[in-house]
Parts: sequence; C-alpha cells; structure tokens
Amino acid sequence: MDCRQAAARADAFVDGELDPAERAAMAAHLLGCAACRGQVEERRELAAALSAGATYHRAPEGLAERIGAALDAAPAFAPGRAQRWRPAALAASLALVAALSSFATLRLAVPDPGDALLDDMVAGHVRALMADHLTDVASSDQHTVKPWFNGKLNLSPPVKDLTTSGFPLVGGRLDYVAGRPAAALVYRHRQHVINLFVAPDDARAAATPAASARQGYNVLHWSDGGLGYWAVSDLGAADLAQFQSLMRETR
Ligand SMILES: [Zn+2]
Repeated sequence: MDCRQAAARADAFVDGELDPAERAAMAAHLLGCAACRGQVEERRELAAALSAGATYHRAPEGLAERIGAALDAAPAFAPGRAQRWRPAALAASLALVAALSSFATLRLAVPDPGDALLDDMVAGHVRALMADHLTDVASSDQHTVKPWFNGKLNLSPPVKDLTTSGFPLVGGRLDYVAGRPAAALVYRHRQHVINLFVAPDDARAAATPAASARQGYNVLHWSDGGLGYWAVSDLGAADLAQFQSLMRETR
C-alpha cells in the first residue's frame, strides 16, 4: 500500500470499516510512514471531538407508559380470526419502532470510545491470526524477544518467561492498534493463542483488570508501571485472569 491508497482508506480505517486484509495492509503502511500516521491521528482526534460534543436526547416522560397502555388496549391475537389494526395500537407500534430505531442510530453514531478501543484490540488479534503473521521475532527466549523491540517503539515491553506456569512465549511483533504503534507479545496456553498488546497508558486505564468479551474473544485490560495492557484470546476468562496475574507477579 502506498501513501495515496492509505489516504483514500484513512476514514474507513478510523471507523473500523476495512476488511481484515486491507486493515492489515493499512497497519503495515502506518508502522512505516509517519506522515500517514499523523493524518490518521488527526482524523481520530476529530472523530473523538465530534462524539464528545454530541448531544443525547432522552425519550419524553411517560412515553413508555403511553405505549404500554395502547398495547394493552390492542386486541389479542386470535388464530383463525381476521386481524384488524386499531389506529391507536398501530400508532403506538410505529412510535415504539421509531423510538427503538432512533436509539439504535444514536448508539451506532456515537460509539463509546472504550468500546472502540476494545474492538481495535480484538481486530488486531484476529488480523494476526488470519494473516498468519503472529510474530516478527519468533522465540521462546525472553532475552531474544525483549531486545528486538529496542529502537522500534518508544516503550520497552516487559517480556516474561511463563513457561513453567503453562504459558510459553511464542514471540513478539510490531502492531498498530488503537491509533498508535504497539508491542504485541504472543503467548500460548494449550492450543490457544494470547496476544498481549502493550501501548502507552491512557487516562482510562484502570489499575484493576477490566474483563470484557466481544465477538467470542475475551479481553482483559489493565495498567501497570505507566503502560496499558490488553490480553486478547479465545481462552476462557478464568485462564486469561490467571495469565494476567502471572504477568503481574513474575519478575
Ligand atoms: Zn504513507
């Protein structure tokens, strides 16, 4: 991908609308091109400013009660009898549909920035698995993987040997998630792959790990020593929590 193609895809990239292959090509270009990275960052800031300034509208008081009352007054469905719509019930149904669809539109138009961040992490995990590009440096030796990141990122990810605890190190790679270059450390537990993304901490990061599940993957997010961590895997939540405490406690 060149800069012209990257510029044409910048909006779709920020909005999470690229397919995995295009997203991977875009991420690879951004890792090597500061100019395009700057443009993507500007678009991301604009999108964040727009959603921060957006207004929300609450449904008027009593709307739910009025719809409920109208529905109660509507005739019950009786098989074999011709259905007749009563105007009030029809109006109530239409109001309900309108209320639900405008709620859905708002939810889509103003995504929670925390959700977008988690979606980005899951997309990064899926992208690495689909593109069969899990590692740039493939080694189970922490003393090989850690120095490989030197000079490639403005952070030094802690790489730990968890082999004896059942989480062998597979390697590491550079990735581009949540609008910035990040270190991805790859661990394995039985047949499951764990991508541990390490990026500069942001204000939202919590000291206590926050667990969530999206698209069938578990995500555990925590912060430690000024760095943000996102562990993504199809592992069960309990196993991922064990991985998190091992990462934290192992020196
Ligand atoms: Zn470029």
